[in-house]
Amino acid sequence: MLARAFRLATVGGIEVRLDPTLLVLAVLLVWSFSGQFAAEHGGTTAIGMAVAGMVLILLSILAHELAHALEARHRGIEVESITLLVFGGVTQMHAHSARPRDEFVIAAVGPFVSLLCGAVFGLLSVAAELLPTTIAGPAADLAGLLALLNVLLAVFNLVPGAPLDGGRVLRAGLWWILGDRSRAIRWAARCGQALGLALVGFGLFVLWQAPQAFVGALWWIVIGVFLVWAAGSEHRMSRLDDLYNGTTVRDLLPFVAAEEQPPDPADPTDPASAPTEDPGADLPDPAPGADLPDPAPGADLPGLPLDADLHDLVDAFQGRTTRIVLHDDQHTHLEVSERQIAAAIGRLRRGQPPVRTMAEATETPR
Ligand SMILES: [Zn+2]
Repeated sequence: MLARAFRLATVGGIEVRLDPTLLVLAVLLVWSFSGQFAAEHGGTTAIGMAVAGMVLILLSILAHELAHALEARHRGIEVESITLLVFGGVTQMHAHSARPRDEFVIAAVGPFVSLLCGAVFGLLSVAAELLPTTIAGPAADLAGLLALLNVLLAVFNLVPGAPLDGGRVLRAGLWWILGDRSRAIRWAARCGQALGLALVGFGLFVLWQAPQAFVGALWWIVIGVFLVWAAGSEHRMSRLDDLYNGTTVRDLLPFVAAEEQPPDPADPTDPASAPTEDPGADLPDPAPGADLPDPAPGADLPGLPLDADLHDLVDAFQGRTTRIVLHDDQHTHLEVSERQIAAAIGRLRRGQPPVRTMAEATETPR
């Protein structure tokens, strides 16, 4: 879903992307807003209000996500991007390094900003009475609706089920109390799954009791299914978290198979699939579009010491690079691709046997 998003702008150094599914939300919002305003303000005015309302609510969602992103960055956590999509917004960041208190504040600041937006629109709806009478009514009604929606956004997001903000607040609180991040993730994910199922049940109930409200009912069902799915992936993440904790890159090495295809088919002499002694020599050029600090040919790939843990290894691939060099103080320099690492983690997770012995894995061929 997120892969198709295109870049809109960069705000405060954070990339803002729009997913094509956002169009569905925009159309639904305009349709629903214009229906609400049509009776009192007439068709043409209502459509104008609806379009303005759609843009302003999307900007409110962006403000909510920017609050998460900027707070995270302020706390030293790397933020990749913000994506606006049919369900609202998603902020992608490397959160594993956060402490419970950081996670708590980063999660809570989004709903806080939504409440703030709600308060501002509430004040604007009162202040709109000062405008000329022709636009005072529409402006006040529009601002009033936006105030209400922002408050609803804050309240809905604070419902304690991951991956909603409330779930993250709960997770941070549990992590703080239990001192065990993985258990906290599992509990918060369970709450998220229960909440998602409850929403699906509610949607089905509405569909049964009031079939004329099927659009609203379908909306609850879709959000419920999304929550169950997202909470499930949080749950799987907690199992990965367990696996990653205390597992070093050195532990993973025996599970890393040799690369099946050379990374650069145009260059059959490319030695990158084998461990090399000198990581500076004969490295493939960075992938097209790669945003590496030094694009000069032969520039070193990012390196990672063998003592780093799997969190750091996964994070190392979060940038634009797909290859890194694993090294230690002695002679091991092993260039690996993201695909090799993903396969190795999969083998480790499924309890499959190592693909080579430790000696083979760390040996440096001549
Ligand atoms: Zn949020």
